[in-house]
Amino acid sequence: MSEILINKKAFKNNLDTIVSHIKDKNKLGLVLKDNAYGHGLEQIASLASDYGIQSVFVKNEFEALKIAHLFKHITAFYGKLSPNAPKNISLSINTLQALDHVEENRSIELEVNTGMNRNGIAREKLAVFIEKILSKKLNLFGIFTHNGYGDEKIADFEEAQEIFAQTKEEVIYLSKKLGFPCPRFHSLASSATLRSEKIDDDLVRIGIAAYGYLGNTFELPIAKNLKPVASLWADKICEQTLPKGAKIGYGGKSILQESATISTYDIGYGDGFFRHNGNRGKLTTAGGYLILPITSMDCFSCICTEERICVFDDASDIAAMFDTIPYEVLTSLSPFLKRTII
Ligand SMILES: *Cc1c(COP(=O)(O)O)cnc(C)c1O
Repeated sequence: MSEILINKKAFKNNLDTIVSHIKDKNKLGLVLKDNAYGHGLEQIASLASDYGIQSVFVKNEFEALKIAHLFKHITAFYGKLSPNAPKNISLSINTLQALDHVEENRSIELEVNTGMNRNGIAREKLAVFIEKILSKKLNLFGIFTHNGYGDEKIADFEEAQEIFAQTKEEVIYLSKKLGFPCPRFHSLASSATLRSEKIDDDLVRIGIAAYGYLGNTFELPIAKNLKPVASLWADKICEQTLPKGAKIGYGGKSILQESATISTYDIGYGDGFFRHNGNRGKLTTAGGYLILPITSMDCFSCICTEERICVFDDASDIAAMFDTIPYEVLTSLSPFLKRTII
């Protein structure tokens, strides 16, 4: 049966690499959203918990509930929380209305827009939000932003950091004036963290780097130390020896140039492995075997007779071929695929 192998040594290597850069293990927050970037939420959460990580970020309550027992702080980026959700689950807040659905004493993290113009409140509205948060007796646990320019060497990156620095000052001022505990501050994802020489925040939010990749579009030497954590494996369904000219698969798109023994393997686009129709060039497995287009929902054909093959152990090549990023290749992997830690 096909499966995803999770290499725990590679994962530890990546966390060690990040910690050596930020110089404080306690500042390492891990992003586990979208099934831990397709790696398996429970599997990665258990490795992260063993490593000593205390703060993690997930997509929503559904994900948070699965791992709440493993961490001190879990923040759900989206959706609402049920009143009976464990108290170590915080909710990210982007609007005043969202506060109406939060019950007393619940921890929240307020997102501030610093130039990505995606999520977050306008900095000018900070005082209004904090007033409402206090009047509703909510716990303002964090103030954060998402610097959307971490991958690019452009001034917008520093400008966003400057706006966040001003935001911090304002929050610190308000906390003294109004007498609420100073919240934690965080702003940097993977590339943004690894390009910053000094981390002024209380926490970083590391996603893709922990899984072995980085999206930086400029030279960042530390990227070379990261190792892909997931590899996708497929098992042989059957094999057949066919003559030159034989057509294979839907519509007969692949035609053998010479007689060959081919096998089918149990991974297809239904498993979240991108559909290969041949229009984007040649696709090979990690071992160099040619994957024959057109791939099916649950299997593909390959000029190979091995019992088990590694479809990929690095999502970068497939991402490049499909004009996307490793994030998409990885998060597309079906949650129904088995994940095994090795
Ligand atoms: C996904 C996400 C991250 C992690 O980003 P990476 O580039 O994977 O490190 C951090 N913060 C927020 C708000 C996110 O949505």
